[in-house]
Amino acid sequence: MKNSVSKSRPLPTISLQDVGGLGEEMKEEIMQTLSTIKEPERAIKLGIKPPKGILLYGPPGTGKTLLAQAIARELNAAFFTASGSAFNELFVGIGASRVRSLFQTARKQGPAVIFIDEVDALAGKRKAHGGEEAEKTLTELLVQLDGGHSNDGILFIAATNRKDMLDEAFLRPGRIDFSFQVPLPDTRGRREIINIHTKGKSLAEDVFASLDDLAESTSGFSGAELQSLFETASRRAVRNGQDMIHKHDLDYALDRTILGNTSRSLQEY
Ligand code: ATP
Repeated sequence: MKNSVSKSRPLPTISLQDVGGLGEEMKEEIMQTLSTIKEPERAIKLGIKPPKGILLYGPPGTGKTLLAQAIARELNAAFFTASGSAFNELFVGIGASRVRSLFQTARKQGPAVIFIDEVDALAGKRKAHGGEEAEKTLTELLVQLDGGHSNDGILFIAATNRKDMLDEAFLRPGRIDFSFQVPLPDTRGRREIINIHTKGKSLAEDVFASLDDLAESTSGFSGAELQSLFETASRRAVRNGQDMIHKHDLDYALDRTILGNTSRSLQEY
């Protein structure tokens, strides 16, 4: 729904364990960053300002939304989410008032994470952005980011596939303090993600034995594609009246995903 700013207040159930392929170094960096938010007094004594904003950037389907939810859970914070395009309006001032209202609602809530996906639609470079309405909306976002205190319990997380499109003013420290790249997973990452998405699923012995090979052979797959692979295989198993996923279900799902990827990349040319 383009114009709705969806808000989900309950604590997310996703934890950092549910996000595969982040790598130890990145996990460690994230935990360190979060510890300055969890213990702001200590951080300030050590001369560190808890961050106000974090940017997650990388290709589609790599788990940026998942990671934002896991961060909110780690902070025991309510999760407010909206897509950047939900703020694009024809009438001057409407987008800006939506931004204001989102921050106001989150501030009332106490500890909260505000997550904006596709933030390039909201905080794109001003030159390319164009239009008075878009300009006003971005300015309001900057005002809200500047207005909050680093220890007011609000963490702003933005995600994009196009970091290069973002306005420099938006990326300034004090607004966005940390940028984390969430790339396509490598073989080890894919193996972790496969583990996550096969947990609780009944797998035949031949599937179980092929999971290392699957991780090897799915170079270029995102976490979302791996998730959909097992989803497709499960659905086929149910359709065939089986009580577990067999290798032929996985092969079928793999063919369909590869076919989907090929037609997508052909369309891109
Ligand atoms: P987009 O840029 O398109 O918004 P995204 O990076 O935010 O994508 P998600 O929405 O978090 O990606 O991923 C979609 C789904 O794919 C997740 O709900 C999850 O099931 C699966 N997934 C993606 N990445 C991962 C990952 N790293 N670990 C585990 N599951 C993943």
